[in-house]
Amino acid sequence: MDMDKIVALCKRRGFIYPSSEIYGGLNGFWDYGPLGVELKRNIKEAWWRDMVLDPPPGPDGEELQMVGLDCAIIMNPKVWEASGHVAGFVDWMTECPSCKRRYRADKVYLVALVPEKELPHYTAAAPGQSPTPPVVLAYQADDPQQARKLFEAEFGRLVKKQKLAADLAPLAIVSVLQAPSHWPRPCPEPGCTGQLSEPRKFNLMFRTFVGAAEDASAVAYLRPETAQGIFVNFANVLGTTRVKLPFGIAQIGKAFRNEINPRYFTFRSREFEQMEIEFFCHPHESEKWYRFWRDVRIRWYVQLGLRSDRLRPREQSREELAHYSCGTTDIEYLFPFADEPQELEGVAHRGDYDLRQHQQASGKDLTYFDEEAWERDKTQLGFTSFKEWLKTNPAPEQVGRYQFLPHVIEPSAGVDRLALAAICEAYAEDTVGGEPRVVMRFHPRLAPIKAAVFPLVNRDGMPEKAYALYRELKRQFVVFYDDKGAIGRRYRRQDEAGTPFCITIDSQTLQDDTVTLRNRDDCTQIRLPIRAVAEELHRRLQPPR
Ligand code: ATP
Repeated sequence: MDMDKIVALCKRRGFIYPSSEIYGGLNGFWDYGPLGVELKRNIKEAWWRDMVLDPPPGPDGEELQMVGLDCAIIMNPKVWEASGHVAGFVDWMTECPSCKRRYRADKVYLVALVPEKELPHYTAAAPGQSPTPPVVLAYQADDPQQARKLFEAEFGRLVKKQKLAADLAPLAIVSVLQAPSHWPRPCPEPGCTGQLSEPRKFNLMFRTFVGAAEDASAVAYLRPETAQGIFVNFANVLGTTRVKLPFGIAQIGKAFRNEINPRYFTFRSREFEQMEIEFFCHPHESEKWYRFWRDVRIRWYVQLGLRSDRLRPREQSREELAHYSCGTTDIEYLFPFADEPQELEGVAHRGDYDLRQHQQASGKDLTYFDEEAWERDKTQLGFTSFKEWLKTNPAPEQVGRYQFLPHVIEPSAGVDRLALAAICEAYAEDTVGGEPRVVMRFHPRLAPIKAAVFPLVNRDGMPEKAYALYRELKRQFVVFYDDKGAIGRRYRRQDEAGTPFCITIDSQTLQDDTVTLRNRDDCTQIRLPIRAVAEELHRRLQPPR
């Protein structure tokens, strides 16, 4: 499928615009138009409803306890020191002094070419000692396979047009970050003859100043994730609600990352929204909850209409895992702009890493006291008070039965990436009655407009009836009223917006108070009493159980 068509439709129909477009836009920032904002709201509401207000039962059929939070975007900078972001939230950057473009060094691949018959000579040399390859080409790619494809697609042309020797063969395909230092590093921009700089670290957090002074003491960061707000409020939530382990805290909000190379439309933006859950559980049960959340989250995407053969859960290998993690699954989706599936969400087992870091850095006790376990054992231990028992200096393993840092499972999803996946998934072209149409087959829960109401013609009392129905429906749903142009054109416009149902008031309505309800996907129509429309829409928009 053609990504350009999707980008054009997003602009044409008001899903997504380049941010501050009249001033030339700003790379990595996007604005959501009237249809896009409804799509995003539906995504966030579906997530909040299905994960927080009405989550599925736990692995043993138990009710899940979930609560929400809405934290400030700018927090005390110590949060980001403790979390490791100040020191470690970096990408390697390289730049071209000639065209001034900047790249992520791990996303520029060098293809080293040597005459085929000399390959053994090069490969026999010790690593770092091999002679400099005579030709090195550079490509922006996500991985070596993609770089190889780009190279293979271009090689024939280079041989013809730039007189490259046809007997050259790839010696190695490695990122600029891993390439031997003596290799040339050409800029990947077509036509640019510059050489890339030595890669250097670049922190992705946006910096700002709080208050009137612009000095080091006033530096603060725009949050690069919503998760840390949850960790630093862990004790507040415990102290002010009745939640007990296991339980989850959820948050939806903006996050900011100064990405070196925003790309793939909204996929990699500098400002985006996240939907994150930190699920706190007993360390002994964390593997079970990790598997539970991984499966729940995959199922959720399928239920919202993402085709399961385009969704790929990818369990990270041991080498990829963060040092504190015993498992992470990236839920990936095959977007039309890439050959390989790309991350929509990460479900990570984070152990007690975050709470431990914040406990250490803040000096505040962030442990959980398991009152039930203490109540069960205290008589046997011969104490009524836990504090008194602690004075007897019990072994740390014994204390840990009652007081410990919970483990955390973190399903962390991007609203904008799901919005883009839903748009790509929905886009279809077909023909209706011999006429071509573009139809956005959104899942009804995600569709920006749920129903459109049309009077067949603008006379005979039809507009009045249609307007009355529109007024009734708009109190409950996002609905659209349209009385302009031929009915076929009105249907086409709603198909392109992804509206699942169109309701038409026609001459029969005037006789028996029935209307037609047209289904977007197969264009079938049913007749139903006008007073039954709202209930029918509710039934069709209900989340699946
Ligand atoms: P990537 O590897 O693609 O940069 P990540 O692994 O750094 O993503 P996380 O830190 O796990 O991402 O963030 C959780 C989620 O937030 C991602 O799965 C994604 O949906 C979303 N997200 C992260 N960075 C961006 C971005 N630059 N633009 C849009 N969404 C993003």
